[in-house]
Order: sequence, then C-alpha cells, then structure tokens
Amino acid sequence: MHAVAWQEHLRERLARRHETGLWRERLSVTPTPDTRSRNFASNDYLGLAGDVRLSEAQAQGARQFGAGAGASHLITGHLDPHHLLEERLAELTGRPRALLFSTGYMANLGTLQALCDRQTQVYQDRLNHASLLDGAKLAGASSRRFHHRDLIDLERLLERAPPDRRRLVVSDGVFSMDGDIADIDGLATICQRYDAWLMIDDAHGLGVLGEHGDGCAGQRFSTSQVPILIGTLGKALGSAGAFVAGDEALIEALIQFARPYIYTTAQPPGVASATLKALEILTTEPERRARLQDNIHRFRRGATALGLPLVESITPIQPVLLESNARVMAWHAALARHGFLVGAIREPTVPKGQARLRVTLGAHHRHDDIDALLDCLGELARREPYPPQEATTP
Ligand SMILES: *Cc1c(COP(=O)(O)O)cnc(C)c1O
Repeated sequence: MHAVAWQEHLRERLARRHETGLWRERLSVTPTPDTRSRNFASNDYLGLAGDVRLSEAQAQGARQFGAGAGASHLITGHLDPHHLLEERLAELTGRPRALLFSTGYMANLGTLQALCDRQTQVYQDRLNHASLLDGAKLAGASSRRFHHRDLIDLERLLERAPPDRRRLVVSDGVFSMDGDIADIDGLATICQRYDAWLMIDDAHGLGVLGEHGDGCAGQRFSTSQVPILIGTLGKALGSAGAFVAGDEALIEALIQFARPYIYTTAQPPGVASATLKALEILTTEPERRARLQDNIHRFRRGATALGLPLVESITPIQPVLLESNARVMAWHAALARHGFLVGAIREPTVPKGQARLRVTLGAHHRHDDIDALLDCLGELARREPYPPQEATTP
C-alpha cells in the first residue's frame, strides 16, 4: 500500500503544478556558433563558455591531472590547478585567501552552515538567491528578510536584534532575476554600526563589474568591509565552480567545518585549468567587458524605444516585466520559434504577478543579433500591446 500512496502523492503534486501553469521543462541544447548568438538566456556574459582556449586548457588539465580529482580536497583531491586557482582568485578579489567549491550552491550552503548556528541571527535581502536562503535553513539559524535593497528596513531589524546573537547580513551583489546591484557601501556601513558581518554573493558581478572584472564587492572594498565574498565561475568566467574569499580565519574555518566542502569530491582538475585560462583572458582582453557594456546599452536603447517594460539595470541581466505567466510563456514560445532563447521566469523564482522574460546579454552577441531580437520583441508588443488595458484602467 505504501508504494501506491507515494505514486498517488507525486501524481497529485505534478497535476497541481500543471494546473497552475507553472510546469517547468528542460530544453536539450547543442551549442553552435549560430545558436550561441541567439541565446539570450545564458549567464555566459563574456562569451567564454564556447572559447576553444578554455576547452583546450580543460583537456590539457585532464591529460596532466586526470579526468576526475579522485577524492575530496582533504584526502588527496586537492591538486595543483585547484591550489593555483585559489591563489589567483584571492588576487583578483583583493583578499588574503580564497577557497574553491564545486558549485555556487554548495559554496553558499557550506559557508552558512559552517558560520551559523542557533545563536546566529541572519538578515537576508528578500530577493536573495535560493542557495542563500537554503544555507541559513540548513544551519538552523534564525533568519529575517529585509525589503529588497532597503537599508532602513534592515536597520530597523538590526535594532531589534537579540543582544546575545551573532549577526550576519547576506545579500546578492547583482540580483539574479532583476539585474540591479546591492548598495554595498550602505550595507558595509550599517554592518559596522551594528557589529554584523557582511556576506556578498557576487555570482553575476564577477568578471563583469569592477575595474578588473573583480565584481561589485572585490578590490573596491576591504576584507573588513565585506568579510565574506562569494563568486561563481560558471557564469561570466564560462567554466564551473565557485569560491569564497576572505581572511585566514574564515577560510580555515570553512576547511575545518563546512560539511558541503569536506564531504564531496573536488571538482575535476581540468575545470580548474579552464578557469585559470578564463582569468588570464579576463586580464588580457578587457575589450570583452567593453563590448558587453556596449551590447547592454544597445539593447536598453532599443527596448526603451519600443516601450517595453524594462527595469533599472546596468548589468547584463535585463528583465522584461510582462507580469502574467501566460504572456511570458507565449512570448517565450514565439521567440523560440525564431530561434531566440530567453529565460521565462515565474513564481516561485520571482514573486507572483512579476513574471518576466529574463534577457541576458553577452560580449559575443553582435549588433545584428540584438537588433533581430528587438525586432521580434517589437512585433510581439505590437500584437499584444503592453501594458495590458486592464492594468491601466483604475
Ligand atoms: C547561479 C547562482 C548561484 C549558484 O551558483 P552555481 O555555481 O550555479 O551553483 C549562487 N548564487 C547566485 C546569486 C547565483 O546567481
């Protein structure tokens, strides 16, 4: 009877997901130069994921160090490319040390689990990435959410903090579904006033923002202002993995106590070799970042002229706020018929009623690609004017 009850339970949940229009599907993709130029959904902001120099570095790393690391970092899996990469990442972010994780999700789980316990009070921006919310939960920490980018709300919460608790403020650097940037200066000031540590997850800023591609919280901020800095390597750097950067005590604490670091196989060494190549290209080809900025401006200019509902964002993440799930899915499908991939984002990833197309720009997009996407979006907007009539009448 038990197995039948399970089947029934899953069938009901799946049916509910269908009924609410929230069914998610995976797309099987084979990247080619042509599909990459029409992919406005990936986080490959510098166009490095398809760069042969990275794949060659990866192959070379695999030939020299093996296809897999063979063990966790604390056993025998911590190989030369891992170690070298940690040194380079510490340099890039202007921090004493960095620690490599296999994914950003695990870096966040591991950091929060190692730092927090029941005596910790965590404060999270309401729009923080799921892995940050999940990490605090895993740690059993007491968590409060403050309104998005609202420092007054954060201060109000900190004033009421139980005096015996250690305080940790956590925020995305660039918000993954909105593309706006946290006020790191303001957060750092408040954290110092209330004796709290600050953790910034700059998954979407690293490689894109900052004078050296060091992100929104790298070299411009000291380790005491932003003691815990997270970056991911699978987005602008075109590879995979993530890191935590900070001082000696933080990194040692993570090595000793972060269970998602300790109990997992180190990432394949070739992946670390590919990331090392990406970091080299970040330094030697700053024109990639300039091209990306130019593409962002071109898209925003065109979309604004078409009257599309953009949000304030200077980053490669450019949401088109269509609001209704049905409209998002319809536009997404129409764009796909023209070969364009854009993100279709609905609840629970974003709040209900804020469904959106998530358009992302990359350095590899040509002006023609962007103009063709804008033509398509313009055609959809003409057929289905935005904002919808019912939303404009009182
Ligand atoms: C993508 C993302 C992560 C997860 O990183 P992965 O390496 O893909 O696991 C964490 N935080 C933020 C803000 C992200 O956007």
